[in-house]
Amino acid sequence: MQSLQKNDKPTASSHAAIIRARNLSRTYTLGESRITGVDAVDLEIAAGELVLLTGVSGSGKSTLLSLLAGLDRPTAGELTVAGRDLSQASGASLDDYRRHVVGMVFQSFNLMPTLDVLENVCLPALLAGRPMADVRKRATELLGWLNLGPRLAHLPAQLSGGEMQRTAIARALINDPAVILADEPTGNLDSRNGAVVIDLLTELNRASGKTIVIATHGGLADKAATRRIRLGDGRIQWDG
Ligand code: ADP
Ligand code: MG
Repeated sequence: MQSLQKNDKPTASSHAAIIRARNLSRTYTLGESRITGVDAVDLEIAAGELVLLTGVSGSGKSTLLSLLAGLDRPTAGELTVAGRDLSQASGASLDDYRRHVVGMVFQSFNLMPTLDVLENVCLPALLAGRPMADVRKRATELLGWLNLGPRLAHLPAQLSGGEMQRTAIARALINDPAVILADEPTGNLDSRNGAVVIDLLTELNRASGKTIVIATHGGLADKAATRRIRLGDGRIQWDG
């Protein structure tokens, strides 16, 4: 992987960009008022980077991650991830994109409360049409790696926060996505469990080469990051 200096402004000539945004904007319209989520963001992230997205509350981190995740659509600009043009994609191709290209980890875990740990992790793979036996085997392996082997049949309500987030990480990995997007993944965890989650994401970046974008305002992941991008009022703040 090419070495990137912190705060390097990417250029159009960067190679192997897996994420490219040009003039990317998302404006919310509420009655007469227009609220800026993300404003004219230009961004290139190379495959294999671990990028920290920082900025105060309301600066646009979640909006940008939702666009990258294919959960929301830009109101202007271009966005391409892993060769897929998300600004022009149909609903069906966004569904396919979310299933195969990205894995998402949320602050509030977003597990299905009536499904046990193994079922939560299997669900995205079953929705992608993969065979049950393969999916269960892979989910069990992932959960073992995440030290959740003894928890497979437990419901989310029976888990600690750290265990819930590790279950969510397994769910994000089950379809082997190239890109992992984590929106304040340590926000509901104590510092010890937060550090475990950051270490796991770092390990996935180092060992599997996954491209990872983490929105965070804690400093936990600073050492592992290839780059830090700060948002303010929906715009990238280029330091220095
Ligand atoms: P962050 O994740 O950095 O806290 P957000 O992306 O959640 O920031 O929010 C960026 C801006 O967009 C804020 O002003 C927020 O109020 C606004 N916003 C986010 N989601 C919506 C929405 N669904 N409707 C209207 N405004 C929104
Ligand atoms: Mg947010």
